[in-house]
Amino acid sequence: MPKKILIIEDEPGILVSLKDEFESQGYIVHIAEDGEKGLEIAKGEKPDLIILDIMLPVLDGYEVCKKLRMEGDTTPIIMLTVKDEEVDKVLGLELGADDYVTKPFSFRELTARVKAVFRRTEERVKDLTCYSFGQIELDFKKYEAKKKNKKLELTPLEFQMLKLFIQKKEQVLSRDDFLDKIWGEDNVSVSDRTVDSHIANIRKKIEDDPSNPKHILSIRGVGYKFID
Ligand code: CA
Repeated sequence: MPKKILIIEDEPGILVSLKDEFESQGYIVHIAEDGEKGLEIAKGEKPDLIILDIMLPVLDGYEVCKKLRMEGDTTPIIMLTVKDEEVDKVLGLELGADDYVTKPFSFRELTARVKAVFRRTEERVKDLTCYSFGQIELDFKKYEAKKKNKKLELTPLEFQMLKLFIQKKEQVLSRDDFLDKIWGEDNVSVSDRTVDSHIANIRKKIEDDPSNPKHILSIRGVGYKFID
């Protein structure tokens, strides 16, 4: 089954060239030129992945992402950003985007990210299905999480990072370990800062006191360690 990609982008030049490129790689491509239309297609077509520009007419990319996640939609999303402020916002707002690419980007870079996302989605299906520690329950199969029996919103990427932590329990993981295992070796511009920022978000969600974490510990100069 070919995978379905939805591209939401208002710059016709980018939209058309991305559509052509992805189609030539065998993907089924849907397109939308504004956020509202994009949201509609996302719900109707159920794509396997969404490439989402930030500055869009009618409804911007932040809103589209937020709305989808609020409705429990876990489709992987790669955001197209222009400025550093947008990158900070994507990472900081806990929008639930899986990754971002900064314009101008090469098609090769975007393709690498898309493949990494699909690889993660496929690996997701294997092995570890459920795990609980402290007051947290994780179901990696259904992508459901609970804290003290209340629903906890985690993004697909956060699930993947937690899974890696759990698989390597009590071992120190470097930021490079995350970049290699979660983002894939062919990533070009994911930085340590991205890893730190996602870990900060995970702590906010799972730790009782994120500034004094009990489960995800910082190991100075090395990385992070997960303990039960
Ligand atoms: Ca735009």
